[in-house]
Amino acid sequence: MQIYDFIGIGFGPANLSVAVALSEKNMLNDNAKIMFVESKADFVWHGGMLIPEAEMQISFFKDLVTLRNPTSPFTFINYLAENDRLESFANLKHFFPRRVEYNDYLKWAAKKFKNYVKYGTKVIKIEPVVAEGSDVVEYLALHLQNISTQEKEIIYAKDISLATGISKIIPEYMRANPDIKISHSDDFLRSLETDFTQRNSDYKFVVVGSGQSAAEITLHLADEYPNAKVDLYFRNYALKPADETEFVNEIFDSDTVETFLTFDDDFREAVLENHRNTNYSVVDPKLISILYERLYYQKLIGSEQIQLHRFHELQGIDSHSKKAIFEELVDNKTVSFEFDGLFLATGYEIIATDIVKNFEEYLVYDVEDRLVLDTNYRVKTVNDDFKPKIFIQGASEHSHGMSETLLSLLAYRSGKIVARLIDSA
Ligand SMILES: Cc1cc2nc3c(=O)[nH]c(=O)nc-3n(C[C@H](O)[C@H](O)[C@H](O)COP(=O)(O)OP(=O)(O)OC[C@H]3O[C@@H](n4cnc5c(N)ncnc54)[C@H](O)[C@@H]3O)c2cc1C
Repeated sequence: MQIYDFIGIGFGPANLSVAVALSEKNMLNDNAKIMFVESKADFVWHGGMLIPEAEMQISFFKDLVTLRNPTSPFTFINYLAENDRLESFANLKHFFPRRVEYNDYLKWAAKKFKNYVKYGTKVIKIEPVVAEGSDVVEYLALHLQNISTQEKEIIYAKDISLATGISKIIPEYMRANPDIKISHSDDFLRSLETDFTQRNSDYKFVVVGSGQSAAEITLHLADEYPNAKVDLYFRNYALKPADETEFVNEIFDSDTVETFLTFDDDFREAVLENHRNTNYSVVDPKLISILYERLYYQKLIGSEQIQLHRFHELQGIDSHSKKAIFEELVDNKTVSFEFDGLFLATGYEIIATDIVKNFEEYLVYDVEDRLVLDTNYRVKTVNDDFKPKIFIQGASEHSHGMSETLLSLLAYRSGKIVARLIDSA
């Protein structure tokens, strides 16, 4: 039986950053018993939302490694240099590259680890392996399934890092009728390619949501389909700006994680609540201005291509009339609108902790479904009879702070994980 020293589950930016940190310690060599398992066929970072003009929400300094090790060969700056764009990038005077470029950077880095990644394969179950004649859990058995052939296999790991990211939230009533073209923002560009191929058609598009994705989708649809009508519906009064001011931005610093862990639950919750407008249901202020200006100049030419509808909450779909049903929150009236395509920019949920359910009796939870992680992102275990180290990334915003689901602290977090991994205690 092949027992790996370490397996990373999911190969998005989080575990890619772990690969970089492992390589710094010379742990990725010919003898390494290390692997990453990724369900996608190849590396891509939120491919459905790689809208050509969309920009990153963080500075390029917060790449896979710079904030821990600025001399690493895996910095964004070295990526630019290797691709002969360093000087021209400097001329741009940008801190926030476009997402397509950041994806290209991540792909460039991921390619260097291709011998350690099993793509097109999903981890469908993890089970504890108990040593014969004892109660001690020595390894974990990972059940894998090949996405295209459906073939299954089991491999074993001493330690693992779960970084399975986020999963789109689609209300049940939206799944009902496959003939109706509804897609989550996660599938946005794929849906345009397959369902809306006539660029000059007068499609009626409905977009739901009030965050960054909703604003990006609205503008992209209007640009790509000049004769289409794009209606954006949201619950609140207005699109609100993401707070990215200097003092507030310190909430994404590595020091903040250390401080955050010293707070009690109620205090942490209050701080998170107070700073939700750094990340949730908010839009980059620059994009708000672009959208506002667009609407203004529409008025000048008498166009109503883009319309914003405040105080509307999506209730469901009438699949016969192909209408989206909304509640008007001001007077609780139900209204419905026809559409050719409906795009849900309604967010994501974290999926990381579902996969450890098979052995939850060994792990420490504080409230239901909420695992307790130490400062190094290792899951705390009930006792020392559980040997494998399980690291979880992206699922502990409640304890480690606002940056947990984002890219800001990839370099810091992967450094912590690898340091703990090689610490034999
Ligand atoms: C459109 C969009 C833009 C964003 N922009 C920013 C930004 O500018 N700045 C920022 O800080 N954050 C941003 N975010 C937040 C985002 O969560 C992070 O950018 C980042 O993707 C987190 O990395 P990750 O590796 O934890 O998760 P993911 O990127 O989601 O990667 C997880 C990977 O695990 C794989 N996987 C899942 N389950 C399994 C399984 N069971 N077996 C095998 N593989 C599995 C998935 O296929 C995926 O590739 C953005 C999010 C979205 C949706």
